[in-house]
Amino acid sequence: MTLGSVPLATTDLKIVDGGRKNSTLICAPVMAETVDQMLVQMGKAKELGADLVEVRIDYLKNFSPRSDLSILIKQAPLPTLITYRPKWEGGEYDGDESKRQDALRMAIELGANFVDVELKVAQEFYNSIRGKKPEKVKIIVSSHNYENTPTVEEIGNLVATIQATGADIVKVATTAVEITDNARIFQVLVHSQVPTIAIAMAERGLMSRILSAKYGGFLTFGSIEAARVSAPGQPTITDLLELYNFRLIAADTKIHGVIGKPIGHSKSPHLYNSAFRALGFNGIYLPLLVDSVANFINTFSSPDFVGYSYTIPHKEDGLRCCDEIDPIAKEIGAISCMIRRPTDGKLMGYNVDYLGAIAAIEEALQASNGAPASGSPLAGKLFVVMGAGGAGKALAYGGYEKGARVVVANRTYAKAKELASKVGGQAITLDELKDFHPEEGMILANTTSVGMKPRIEDSPLPKEALKYYSLVFDAIYTPKWTRLLQEAKDCGAIVVFGTEMFINQAFVQVERFTGLPAPKQLMRDVLARNT
Ligand code: NAP
Repeated sequence: MTLGSVPLATTDLKIVDGGRKNSTLICAPVMAETVDQMLVQMGKAKELGADLVEVRIDYLKNFSPRSDLSILIKQAPLPTLITYRPKWEGGEYDGDESKRQDALRMAIELGANFVDVELKVAQEFYNSIRGKKPEKVKIIVSSHNYENTPTVEEIGNLVATIQATGADIVKVATTAVEITDNARIFQVLVHSQVPTIAIAMAERGLMSRILSAKYGGFLTFGSIEAARVSAPGQPTITDLLELYNFRLIAADTKIHGVIGKPIGHSKSPHLYNSAFRALGFNGIYLPLLVDSVANFINTFSSPDFVGYSYTIPHKEDGLRCCDEIDPIAKEIGAISCMIRRPTDGKLMGYNVDYLGAIAAIEEALQASNGAPASGSPLAGKLFVVMGAGGAGKALAYGGYEKGARVVVANRTYAKAKELASKVGGQAITLDELKDFHPEEGMILANTTSVGMKPRIEDSPLPKEALKYYSLVFDAIYTPKWTRLLQEAKDCGAIVVFGTEMFINQAFVQVERFTGLPAPKQLMRDVLARNT
């Protein structure tokens, strides 16, 4: 086995194979003020499953190079990468440059596995160690860009400059301003001739950190705790291993994800990745923080990018990027699922939101009133849908299909009117809904984002208005108990959680992505653990 193209024997790393499908290492940054604290963190990193530790000696207070480095390198439970990052490259060290380089030379002498040297001083540093560096100590020459991700040509030139210093390993860290910036990082990895670490920092760069395993990166960084990252956008070791199945990512792993903005709150990666793992399906599912759907789709057009879920606010833009659209999605005017057809690479759009939501409402009505003699328990009911966006359209069409009398209540009246006219229903504003109660026992579905995390104290409808409803459904699933549902329960209504809509449409999507039956109980358990 080799690590990137550095053979194992020369790096002295002992990697336990354990069924892993890639050789990309997980490196845990260790940042503390004392050597003892660093040793504790190293122990934790090993327990969590990291392969090596990056010892950030620029964080140490009262650093005494020889004794501290000797303890850190000799007592580390994992192989060490020694980094002494100066302020001028984004680190903490603000002292004399020659002393800094002396400490790095000492780390080499003491047998660190890797030493990081910044490109700006790499040539000078190499000249000083020529003929003195043991073969097994590898030098990483690094460059950090905290502003943006340059063009492919510019990064290519940067990599060539780094290689020309004699670097054993190239490290390029840029900043992702758009998610499409990751594509240039992947190109660097795919074309690199020497072991390379290429990462785009910041939230929009997360995919570069995870997919470095697919594109042959030498290592990726995983933090010990979420609150203590050495660079923006860094995932934890636990997320890499347990949420993203990092060890199972291979060169031919198919890429899926949920496209939205914001997307950090999404539980979908937990659900889909655990389903993929249970099914033995060679796929990964990522949170995709997308600003422009069209740019994303045009940039990631390779056959390995195969399937997406769409969420707020991109369901309508997603529809415009499809090559073919399912008739129901076309009616609704929004998609929730997109699949690249393997035979011709065409992008197919579907809307499976309504399947999940309507099934959950029907089940709850049946559980309370018994099954109707024929047809749907929604037939003939007055069905009020708050919101007229992607989810609102799905619910309104679903209700209409089941024979309900639909009312659409939306903040923007024009949108309510347009949707109501398509489902033969009535349109009102959200304000008017407060005093709208033509009959008792109505059904209410919230599809606005009012009450979603973090603004959990908000509710789209005052409590006084809820007494006219026999069942209240909320599409929001973070939190599970929204204020609307809590108040509906207080008023005696049956409540149906957004998690039910979410889980039901997730079953459908897993089946479409994998072609296999969804592991339903496992997915329910994962969702319960993560809400
Ligand atoms: P969308 O297309 O952007 O629509 C958002 C809707 O919310 C619009 O009707 C909008 O009204 C309304 N809205 C937003 N902010 C509002 C405010 N401050 N006051 C009143 N109305 C407001 O989003 P979507 O995709 O339909 O998603 C809507 C919600 O459903 C989200 O919370 C999403 O997480 C949830 N959802 C859940 C599931 C599930 O599986 N459980 C599936 C899909 C969606 P205007 O037209 O006036 O802007």
